[in-house]
Amino acid sequence: MDRLILEDMIWPEVAEVLPEIKVALIPVGSCEQHGPNTTFVTDTVRAYRIAKLLAGRCGHKVICFPPITYGISSHHMDFPCSATLRVSTLTAVLVDTALSAVHYGIDKVLFVNAHGGNKPCLMSAVQILKQEHDVTAFWTPVGSELLEGGIQKYFPGIQPGNFGHACEMETAQCMYLRPDIVREKREKGINQTSIFTDRTAFVPGGGQGVWNWKHDVTLNGALGDARKATAEIGEAMTNEVLDYLERLVDKIIAYQPTPEKLFK
Ligand SMILES: [Zn+2]
Repeated sequence: MDRLILEDMIWPEVAEVLPEIKVALIPVGSCEQHGPNTTFVTDTVRAYRIAKLLAGRCGHKVICFPPITYGISSHHMDFPCSATLRVSTLTAVLVDTALSAVHYGIDKVLFVNAHGGNKPCLMSAVQILKQEHDVTAFWTPVGSELLEGGIQKYFPGIQPGNFGHACEMETAQCMYLRPDIVREKREKGINQTSIFTDRTAFVPGGGQGVWNWKHDVTLNGALGDARKATAEIGEAMTNEVLDYLERLVDKIIAYQPTPEKLFK
């Protein structure tokens, strides 16, 4: 078995390779509207497909768990059938899933996250895992944050803060990873003039309140211009992301944490 993906495995196969596994990959997505461009599973598909490709590159060093398919999407609830977990629920799911991997002797955990709304929970989960369980966990995005030289390399002229959801980047990744969830007729985001400002961003230093995506950001649900997406760009970006993640896995394996369980 070249790559370890629980979806493809039975338990005796897992048991045989267990001593070799150093890191559990736990993909984290959302069930959330992605404008007129890609379907509700966009983030889950990106997180899971990228985690599986990463597992293909890392051999028996990692094992890929099935994805967490719901996330924090309260800011998208104006668009029908987006679904959200509570912050406390997702944080608990992240911690419990990680502890399950650790229960079998897999030392370290990497959450592979494709949805920005999940970040506060991921931050809390890695803290809880360390403080209360002395477990070493990390989380990583899978998009433009990881591109050397930024996303401008793939989309010249793209404005920072004006992409990131059902946009050229996410859509290009979907066109490469799972084209059936991409609509042929795609639209640019219809942005509000108040984009990320008036109501929500008046507290300096990032201490803003919670956004309402439709009211504060974009009327049709997209932020960016998905018409510019191509499968070729999606493939190039995804390969660059995977190069980064492959190096990250090796760093995580080499990392020697100090024992630090604070709360017994
Ligand atoms: Zn998304």
